[in-house]
Amino acid sequence: MKSPHSARAWFLRPILAVGIAALVMGGCSCEGPPTRHLSVRMRAPIRPPAVIATREVPNIRVRLGEETPSLKVAVDGPYRLTSARGEVATGDSLDWTEIAFNKGSVSFGQVTEPGPLEIHATCDGGIFVSQTVGGTVRERNYRGSIQIIPTGAGTLRIVNTLPAEHYLAGVLANEMIKSWPVEAYKAQCVAARTFALIERNARLRYDFDVYDSTASQVYGGCGTENQTAWDAVAGTFGIVATYRGAGGKPQLLKTYYCSTCGGMTASAGSVFGGETPPPLAGGVKCDYCRRSPKYRWPDVTLTKKEIGEAMRQSGYTDLVRLGPIARVEVASTAGPGGRAEAIRVIDTAGAAVLIRAGYWRSLVGHTKIFSTWFTLVDKGDRILVTDGRGFGHGVGLCQWGAAYLAERGKTGEEIVRYYYPSAELTRAY
Ligand SMILES: [Zn+2]
Repeated sequence: MKSPHSARAWFLRPILAVGIAALVMGGCSCEGPPTRHLSVRMRAPIRPPAVIATREVPNIRVRLGEETPSLKVAVDGPYRLTSARGEVATGDSLDWTEIAFNKGSVSFGQVTEPGPLEIHATCDGGIFVSQTVGGTVRERNYRGSIQIIPTGAGTLRIVNTLPAEHYLAGVLANEMIKSWPVEAYKAQCVAARTFALIERNARLRYDFDVYDSTASQVYGGCGTENQTAWDAVAGTFGIVATYRGAGGKPQLLKTYYCSTCGGMTASAGSVFGGETPPPLAGGVKCDYCRRSPKYRWPDVTLTKKEIGEAMRQSGYTDLVRLGPIARVEVASTAGPGGRAEAIRVIDTAGAAVLIRAGYWRSLVGHTKIFSTWFTLVDKGDRILVTDGRGFGHGVGLCQWGAAYLAERGKTGEEIVRYYYPSAELTRAY
């Protein structure tokens, strides 16, 4: 079946049902200039391609940042405020207004509601949210609507609901480098769309589907979109990766991806545990990512003292009990490349704890130990982490590799098929 929306045809299997709970039409962008009297700086949102704007797309609910006692919101253009009892306020525009948790309710200017409040803007991309994330104030604008939900913990949860394809445009621009070719963006888009739908299906009982950080996929709202991202979204509209699960039924593939595989991809099971669907078996050779600054990374020295402290701070019972650290070693590796699978930490009394290499990496610092592909060398009171390769978990699509392959003329579909061998491509909606 030929995709009418792509210059290069994608070979597609028939439509796959993914449980579309809510169908909406793609939103519109406002024609006029931004409202001048607001104290927000609005960059005119990119107009979604016609193919997106006129199609039915399932919604996705994105949890924004951290839960917070208060936040500020502004709206460029007309807006409506709704709650369970219907419309509670309207206006022509809204300058920064504080929204706060107030004894189990949500206070919004003169309005106080016991349950969630939702802000709807006439201008798509016109809702601005100012919230504190990681100790710093972050200001972004969003398409779709914003829901403010009071929690039992005395905080507010902020959830952005928007069509899945619009969400993807706000993900791609954050997950890829701006100058990379559109075919690399397309491959990333299929991976990001499939990953998002898997997460969405797993959180049907939640009041959100995905996080806006690396806990899911990095999403920056409408102000971070770029034209290449939108071209990739339009060129792969609705396409997801699947595999044949038990009974031969097509299932969505958990399309893990990483920055830089370092030379060869890893198997999902060796990194995350659990089953490994065939397209995630790893062992895909890729030195295409060698231009990545993390293809090889410099040696890191960790003192045994700091490793011990990191283990104890995990709160994980077996690690908390460890005394002073005597040895840290790679207990097992996976794949021909020898990527660490498990790390053994042994204290001076001889107690040993075996932990997954990715977990060990997260405890000692994923911003200095860039992957689990390394060699550990005992240097007395220190451990030398040497021969470091790649950035990220190494499973599935390698982003730097995808960029190189696209530059060499590979299509998005070819790139997807390279990193997820035997995966099938199908249309989810
Ligand atoms: Zn690679």
